[in-house]
Amino acid sequence: MNQKTICIHGCKEKKDLTGSVSVPIYQSATFAHPAVGKSTGYDYSRQQNPTREHLECTVAALEGGSHAVAFTSGMAAITALMELFQPGDHIIASEDLYGGSIRLFEQINKKNGLRFSYADTSDATKIEALITKDTKAVFIETPSNPTMIVTDIKAVSELTKPRGILLIVDNTFLTPYFQKPLQLGADIIVHSGTKYLCGHNDTLAGFLVTEDQKLGEKLRHLLMSLGSCLSPFDSWLLIRGIKTLAIRMEKQQENAIAIAHWLKTHPKVKKVYYAGLSEHPSYEISSTQASGFGSMISFTVDSEATAVQVLEKVELILYAESLGGVETLITYPMLQTHADLTKEERDARGINETLLRLSVGLEFAEDLISDLKQALD
Ligand SMILES: *Cc1c(COP(=O)(O)O)cnc(C)c1O
Repeated sequence: MNQKTICIHGCKEKKDLTGSVSVPIYQSATFAHPAVGKSTGYDYSRQQNPTREHLECTVAALEGGSHAVAFTSGMAAITALMELFQPGDHIIASEDLYGGSIRLFEQINKKNGLRFSYADTSDATKIEALITKDTKAVFIETPSNPTMIVTDIKAVSELTKPRGILLIVDNTFLTPYFQKPLQLGADIIVHSGTKYLCGHNDTLAGFLVTEDQKLGEKLRHLLMSLGSCLSPFDSWLLIRGIKTLAIRMEKQQENAIAIAHWLKTHPKVKKVYYAGLSEHPSYEISSTQASGFGSMISFTVDSEATAVQVLEKVELILYAESLGGVETLITYPMLQTHADLTKEERDARGINETLLRLSVGLEFAEDLISDLKQALD
C-alpha cells in the first residue's frame, strides 16, 4: 500500500465494532479481565492501549518496521533508548546533534557510565576512526540541526553492521514520508513526534521504531518499565496529524524551496543552508537516500543586529522553538536549541549570533516572503 494511504487509514486491524471512522480514544487506565488467567489483550494502559497501539502500528508501517513504541516526547524516547546500554559502553554521535540529545548524553547518561564521542558523521571515515571494542552504537541525525549536514546512512551501516554496532537514526526532520532509514541499514529510528508527525504544534510525542523482533520486544519492555508512554488522547492527536502528513510534507517543502531561493537574493543574507539547494555539499546524497529535502532552512545574516531585528520584526512568522508544524517558526539556535553548548562547541558547529533557523509551514509562500522581507529590510 502506498504510504499516502497508510497515513490516512493507518493500521487495518481496527478493533472497534461500531464502525467508527475516527479511531476511538480509549481513555481507560485499566481493562477488566473476562476470567481468571484470561485477558482481552489489554490489562493496563501503561502496557497496552488500543488508541496508542493504532498509532504505533501506523508509524511502524510508515517506517517499514515491525515495531514502534510511542513515548510522551522525543526526549523520553531517547532516554528510554539509552537504557539499552551498560556502563562502559561507547556511543559515537553526530556532532551536529539536536541540543537536547547532547544535553542528555553529557549531563545524564555520562554520569551513569556511558561514554560518548562526537564526529562529523557526513564523513564515514571519521566514524570508523573512533570505533573501539566498546562501541555499541552510532547515533546520527540527517539532515542535522541546525546546519543541515547530511550523513550517508548506507555508508555508515556498512561500518556498523559487520561489527554488530547498532545504527540509530533520528529521522525527525524528514519523517518516513521522505526518508526510510531502516531500508538503508539503520537498526533503530528515533522520532520527535512533536514535529512533523504531529504537525500542528500542539502535542509532544516521541517514537522508537525497529524491524528487529528482539529489539522491538526490548523497546516495548522499556516503555512499560519506564512508564513514559503516550496518553490515549495525545495518541489520537498524532493519528489525526499523520492523516495529512503527505500533503503537509509536500507543500511545506514547496514553500521552503521558494523561500530558500528568495533568501539567496537578499543582500543581508550571507549563507543559506538547505539540503534542497544544488550547491549544498550533500545535495547528491540527499537526492539518492531521501525522496525529498524537507522544509527546514538555516541562514546567516550580515550581523548580530540584523539577526535580532529579524526575530523582533517578524509578524506572521513566530519567534518560537520547535519545528515541523503548519505555522512557520523562526528560532535563534544560539540562544534556544543549542544554548547548552559552550561557545567553542557552538563555534565549531557554525552556530553563532548571525545564524537563524526557519521551520517553514503551510502558509501562502508569498506572505512568508513579504514578512521576511520587511523584517530584514
Ligand atoms: C525536538 C527534537 C528532539 C526532541 O524531541 P521532543 O519531542 O522535543 O522531546 C529530538 N530530535 C530532534 C531532531 C528534534 O528536533
